[in-house]
Amino acid sequence: MTTVLQRDAENIGTLTELVQRYSSEYLQRLDAVPTDNAESLLPPLSLPEAGWGAASVVKYIQEKMQPLFVASPGGRYWGYVTGGVTPAALLGDWIVSTIDQNTQSLNGPGDMSALVEQQTITMIRELFELPAHFRGGFVTGATMSNFTCLAVARQWSGTKAGRDVAREGLSQVFGDALQSPIILSATPHSSALKSLSMLGLGSSNVVVVQKPMGREAMDIQDVERHLAANEGKSVIVISSGGTVNTVDYDDMLALRELHQKYSFWWHIDAAFGAFAACSPAHKHLLEGWEEADSITVDCHKWLNVPYDSAIFLVHESHAPLQMQTFQNSNAPYLGNPADNFSYLNFVPENSRRFRALPAWCTLVAYGKEGYREIVERNIALAQNLGERINSSTMFALQAPVRLNMVCFSVKDANGNVLEKDALMRFLDTLNHRGRVFMTPTLYNGVWCLRAALVNWQTQQKDLDIAWSELTQVYQEFVAS
Ligand SMILES: *Cc1c(COP(=O)(O)O)cnc(C)c1O
Repeated sequence: MTTVLQRDAENIGTLTELVQRYSSEYLQRLDAVPTDNAESLLPPLSLPEAGWGAASVVKYIQEKMQPLFVASPGGRYWGYVTGGVTPAALLGDWIVSTIDQNTQSLNGPGDMSALVEQQTITMIRELFELPAHFRGGFVTGATMSNFTCLAVARQWSGTKAGRDVAREGLSQVFGDALQSPIILSATPHSSALKSLSMLGLGSSNVVVVQKPMGREAMDIQDVERHLAANEGKSVIVISSGGTVNTVDYDDMLALRELHQKYSFWWHIDAAFGAFAACSPAHKHLLEGWEEADSITVDCHKWLNVPYDSAIFLVHESHAPLQMQTFQNSNAPYLGNPADNFSYLNFVPENSRRFRALPAWCTLVAYGKEGYREIVERNIALAQNLGERINSSTMFALQAPVRLNMVCFSVKDANGNVLEKDALMRFLDTLNHRGRVFMTPTLYNGVWCLRAALVNWQTQQKDLDIAWSELTQVYQEFVAS
């Protein structure tokens, strides 16, 4: 052991206290950390011959990296769909690295992490009031959850032709293009398309279902037309439980009815929208979803655990297909997969960090009530922002505030909606002030700003700051 490493090992107590102090100071002044940062150049650094030791590394992070950080875990980071980190989730995440368990099977020594993973999945099902027939596990994000669910859907498609895609390969099973699954969706998230690319199904092979006027959801009659026209073929429906622009939901009750009438794989991407189930006033948006084949839920968004964390839920009747899909064949040292359930043969990764623990910690620490309060507060604040926009002459809502997102355009002095370039300049000005952060979108042919509220810390005072920022930028912008 080098002396540097030896010294660090001996000083582990001091070093962990150093990080503890650093973290607590950082979090206590998070409100003053800008939500955007003009600074983006990391000083060049090459690999040292003799290492610096851990204390110097922390000092370097503090001095050279920290000026580049943005307050993305804070209450006014409303770009994309960005969650923060609850106190219990943070502590859980520290412990994950401290104990460094490898979550794989349920049957050996050191497998408590897999047991906790199952317990956490059960608690998330309870949070959403979903039935026990879903099996789930942790992956890195909703992208990988969509990938996992759609991989099982692909395997299911193969079995419709009596084939095993995982073993035989795509060209053997779907070589005859007529056998390829028909994929229906109205407004799939880009990550669902990316998943289709990764799965060899092709991101351009989605049959885009019609949408009712002013909606991002599927026209159910059009879905039924496609299902009727493709009876006997394998069909995968990728539905939305909350789109990222306007939080539109496909009609789950109607899809459930179709699912009873036709054979298709029903996937729901509910990355953040699943949390509507925490609010008695909004859970109707998901009614019927319990009959889906698979569901995607992100944990690093509205559950407010650190990156990178999401779960998949797949109907237990598909477990054998899932095991075929993620099978470690040709690895006898991993045990006989048929004998024992093992995450090794149930998820894309093999070795995994104990990703469930931060989610477990926050769920147990704050309970159902804690999440209901966070979700309802975010929704109420989004609605409040929507009302302010509605009654202002400066901005215009481009979609109703269905849940926790506000999609709005900016007007010029004549009341015309700003075009792309002007809107981007407005947004850059707003973001560079560093007190609130939003991202743009193109919705219905109109360039908009999007505010997505999923952070546990966001309060009325944050909304007031954001509103004052918006109006100040507007006055400067339109005046100049
Ligand atoms: C965020 C999001 C995704 C992708 O999630 P990652 O966590 O970035 O992988 C997929 N679908 C929806 C609806 C999302 O909001």
